[in-house]
Amino acid sequence: MTAAEELTAAVQALVLDHQIVPCGTDPAPWYGDTPAERAEAAELCSGCAVLHLCAAAAAEAGERWGVWGGVDRQHRLTGKGHR
Ligand code: SF4
Repeated sequence: MTAAEELTAAVQALVLDHQIVPCGTDPAPWYGDTPAERAEAAELCSGCAVLHLCAAAAAEAGERWGVWGGVDRQHRLTGKGHR
């Protein structure tokens, strides 16, 4: 099973248990235009039950945009915003 398939199965299990992931209601901040907006979204990921699966799926897919598993993938790949 791929990481993406594991993530999908885990999210489906949460839905069946009447739970949602933080990005589930409004994913827009996870793809926000500004690093600050995406940083706020990444903070919300910290309470997500599937954080590690999400991060693995993003790594597996080579995601280049948005926040996945608490990591701003755009930030990570461009290096923009590093202090
Ligand atoms: S860890 Fe992944 S699934 Fe969970 S809130 Fe963050 S982006 Fe959404």
